[in-house]
Amino acid sequence: MLSQSARSALVAAQSPIAIVLSCSDARVPAELVFDQGLGDLFVVRVAGNVIAPTLVGSVEYAVAAFGTALVVVMGHTHCGAIAATLDWITARGPLPSEAIHEIVTRIRPAVEQARRPGLDRAAILAAATRADVRASVRELSQSGSLVEMAARGDLVIVGAEYSLATGAVDFFDQVPT
Ligand SMILES: [Zn+2]
Repeated sequence: MLSQSARSALVAAQSPIAIVLSCSDARVPAELVFDQGLGDLFVVRVAGNVIAPTLVGSVEYAVAAFGTALVVVMGHTHCGAIAATLDWITARGPLPSEAIHEIVTRIRPAVEQARRPGLDRAAILAAATRADVRASVRELSQSGSLVEMAARGDLVIVGAEYSLATGAVDFFDQVPT
């Protein structure tokens, strides 16, 4: 799909089949994960797949401009952003920068929710990863121009988790039955 002819055919327009909001982690490139090529996915990547106004705007743009009706929020196992947030909550160490603080505070509610008595670190991180995805799905579906489209069913926003170990993507949240 990286041929010159494929490139040329896409110069004038794009028609992505899905919008993917995923983590920036180098091991989670959406096109490779879903075996897609040039022009197939509109991908928004940010550490911890958090939601912030610029990211909502990116999704809104793709929905409006290309008529893409599916949004996948994809977290992943062994996410460094989730682990860093847990470490920050428990150790209370200083964060390297204000910008990183901005990301971690957005992940924090999911990690707090996942911290249950009796759970070990791995179990907390696993639960936090899914809670973080759920929070982003919920926030997107309550944002700006996406609210009415999601309510009408013209836009489907689902949550998924990619396993680094197996390559499988588990769609676990808001998947239409
Ligand atoms: Zn990550």
